[in-house]
Amino acid sequence: MKRRVYSPIVYTPLNLNELNGYSHSHPKATIFAGGTYILPRYSDFQLGDFHIIDISHIEELNRISRTETYLEIGAGVSLNKILDIGKKVLPKNFQKAIMTVGNVIVRDMATLGGNIGNRDVITSLPPLLLMMDVRLEVRKNDTNRWIPFNQIYIPGRGPDLENWEFIQRIRIPLREWNFQMFRSQGDFLDEDRFLFCTFASVQKGIVTDIRFAFVSGWHTYIRSREIEVEMEGRKLPLSRSDITSLREHFYAMSLKNLSHLKDYQITQISRTFYWALHELSYSITE
Ligand SMILES: Cc1cc2nc3c(=O)[nH]c(=O)nc-3n(C[C@H](O)[C@H](O)[C@H](O)COP(=O)(O)OP(=O)(O)OC[C@H]3O[C@@H](n4cnc5c(N)ncnc54)[C@H](O)[C@@H]3O)c2cc1C
Repeated sequence: MKRRVYSPIVYTPLNLNELNGYSHSHPKATIFAGGTYILPRYSDFQLGDFHIIDISHIEELNRISRTETYLEIGAGVSLNKILDIGKKVLPKNFQKAIMTVGNVIVRDMATLGGNIGNRDVITSLPPLLLMMDVRLEVRKNDTNRWIPFNQIYIPGRGPDLENWEFIQRIRIPLREWNFQMFRSQGDFLDEDRFLFCTFASVQKGIVTDIRFAFVSGWHTYIRSREIEVEMEGRKLPLSRSDITSLREHFYAMSLKNLSHLKDYQITQISRTFYWALHELSYSITE
């Protein structure tokens, strides 16, 4: 049997005004940025009435600006261009996480907006951005709004955007963290994939702020504000009993009820948490 092949209709606005025009006339069109997620899954996308709006030529989405306190990155900026900002400016974990996305060729095309815009799986960068007090500028027609990233992004479901609302800019605070860890294992589309990230501030040997999160598989994101709060105010190094009780609380509060995860995934998370507590205890030299 012959399979009917449809060609998408592609629109290439050159600026935000033109984009507004297309979004009015094609409210169901798919936004295409670098295409590195969409293209390998071309056949999964709706065929027949397949309209694509390629935003890669919109100059306003390709800008980066910087102040003393934050970086503002257009949604269409490629991951390699973000790396070019340099390690002196980029938060270390953010830089490391970008380096794990695909390879250098993929990162040349892949954009930050496209990484955040994914609604199928938890991609590599949102788990970190959720912890970094990031804000997104989202735009619909000619109106825009700034919104905290953790109010609009739902791990496993992606950004909660209205019909034809899109991400325009991402504002990342340039905050000093004196303890950061990032670990990523497996391909991001593997069922076994694992990601861990933590940021902490330690002053005079006291943990003043700590954030940590895990991703297991495609859709499971674990972050426990209760445990983070429990850790804040503790003196380093943590005692053995501190570490044991934190690990037990973390297990009871965050891991015990994750019945959809396999045992080895729970063990991986629990051990990584344990390891991170040790690292935190002994790696701060102030
Ligand atoms: C070999 C290979 C390895 C990869 N490895 C990884 C990996 O390790 N980690 C990872 O996270 N990803 C990985 N990817 C997937 C992909 O490269 C990244 O997620 C990338 O950041 C997607 O960006 P893009 O610009 O190509 O998005 P696109 O493919 O253009 O779009 C992705 C989704 O985001 C939406 N979108 C794009 N821009 C916007 C916007 N401004 N506003 C709202 N929605 C938008 C699109 O409609 C689409 O649904 C890999 C891809 C390949 C080919």
